[in-house]
Amino acid sequence: MASVSLEGVRKIYASGGRTQIAVHDVDLDVADGELVVLVGPSGCGKSTTLRMIAGLETISSGRLRIGGRVVNDVPAKERDIAMVFQNYALYPHMTVYDNMAFALSLRGTPKTEIDARVREAAALLDIEGLLDRKPRQMSGGQRQRVAVGRALVRKPQVFLFDEPLSNLDAALRVQTRREIARLHRQLGATMIYVTHDQVEAMTLGDRIVVMHEGRVQQVDTPMALYERPANRFVAGFIGSPAMNFFPGELTRADGNGSTARFRAAGGAFTLPLAPDVSVPPADGARPVLLGMRPECLRLATNDDASAPIRARLDAAEPMGNETILYARTGDHDLTARIAPGVVPRPGSEVALAVDSAGLHLFDPASGARVGA
Ligand code: ADP
Ligand code: MG
Repeated sequence: MASVSLEGVRKIYASGGRTQIAVHDVDLDVADGELVVLVGPSGCGKSTTLRMIAGLETISSGRLRIGGRVVNDVPAKERDIAMVFQNYALYPHMTVYDNMAFALSLRGTPKTEIDARVREAAALLDIEGLLDRKPRQMSGGQRQRVAVGRALVRKPQVFLFDEPLSNLDAALRVQTRREIARLHRQLGATMIYVTHDQVEAMTLGDRIVVMHEGRVQQVDTPMALYERPANRFVAGFIGSPAMNFFPGELTRADGNGSTARFRAAGGAFTLPLAPDVSVPPADGARPVLLGMRPECLRLATNDDASAPIRARLDAAEPMGNETILYARTGDHDLTARIAPGVVPRPGSEVALAVDSAGLHLFDPASGARVGA
């Protein structure tokens, strides 16, 4: 296994006289044996980054190292990397066995060695019973395993996955995700995994790279991304339902106090801020964007004076283990994730209490995190 390191790696596409920077100067160090997930919305440059690592795209500038060696000019087949794609890319006329054996045969690996490796990978993936089938005789989930098996037999330095679960149904996605995590543990393999699905990223990654418009937004552990998003984009992308954002301003809690409070635009509500999230302005008000996780809201009784938010309930979605409320306070939409129980009727007025641990402040212009 090997480490992977990107230093200012950039991809410029030129088509029809126009150029586009698809990936901006990415810096990233993936340790030997680490599973790093690249996540972001469609078109943010995830596949392009992965394909540059694989050697399927040229690198416009910057340096790529695998196992410490600069490989910018090393062809794909000499990088000792195996990639698993969303569409599996199996050879339709070959059996599972031959699909898995193919790359090794090309390399001239002895037949007994090939056989041992194919059977070992098949056992790991629980597909020993499928070795004689053709791809069309299998379900999507089985084909996906074969695609992973084909990567496993090569015992590569690095595994790359590009949205490998996107074609599977929800239940199978969860199961296969767990299997990939197990394989990662068993093999101690270096893996770089691309997905647009933040839940997949959160549950799978040792570390996550959040990308947006070709730029890395933040690289961190799943919990650190959730608890301390570096900017508004990461804050809104990680977590489900997504964080609420309220434009407004910070003012001093009282004329000369040392704590601040937040006043939502239009005066929909004001919130005292805990000293550790507050940034008392030097003088007057300071515009900010308040981020509030849906799970830090709680339904209060209407006579509870300590519940700072009054909202009109638009809809309630009982999920069994929790209930999602959609409401409106002043001009602002709001989502709350509350404990299951009796839910007020849509159209009625609700009072909401706020746990200040779920609050985040961002600069309204740059989107950068403000304060602690
Ligand atoms: P993601 O995998 O995150 O959805 P991609 O890496 O595929 O995104 O694409 C990033 C950007 O690069 C997109 O704007 C896409 O249109 C552009 N792009 C990708 N491949 C090519 C190509 N071969 N030629 C020109 N532009 C491309
Ligand atoms: Mg892609």
